[in-house]
Amino acid sequence: MNGHCNVIPGYSEMKALLTTHERLKLTVLDPKGTIYKGSLYLIHNNLIMVIVSKYLVPKGYLAITIWPFIFVRNKGLKDVDSLISHEKIHLKQQLELLILLFYIWYGIEYLVHYIKYKDHLKAYRSISFEVEANTYENDLDYLNTRKLFSWFKYL
Ligand SMILES: [Zn+2]
Repeated sequence: MNGHCNVIPGYSEMKALLTTHERLKLTVLDPKGTIYKGSLYLIHNNLIMVIVSKYLVPKGYLAITIWPFIFVRNKGLKDVDSLISHEKIHLKQQLELLILLFYIWYGIEYLVHYIKYKDHLKAYRSISFEVEANTYENDLDYLNTRKLFSWFKYL
């Protein structure tokens, strides 16, 4: 069953809608007036919202997490447990750092590693948040036992 939204609902309204609909079709308008179409899914539990949109995920990536959403490039990816579990770890990390601080720290760590390695992929994979997510993405029980600020030990 598909739902359709013509107005932009709030977070809790979307959660409520998604408990009765398998997905919601979304139209997102960015400040430049570009229209993106995506779908919003509810996965694993009520708090995980996955938007399928190839336009909102940067080139070269399968998914990107911006709390409270996980954006995936195509529909099939929402069923890849290790990918969703990886992004769920990022959701937890983002909440721990009150979201904004996560991006600042992420950027600083990337720069420090980039200066060290002069290599984008190596720098990206060395970011503590990524090391934690990559280490535990196949452990679907990880978030139930994870301690706060667990990424800190990968610095
Ligand atoms: Zn990641």
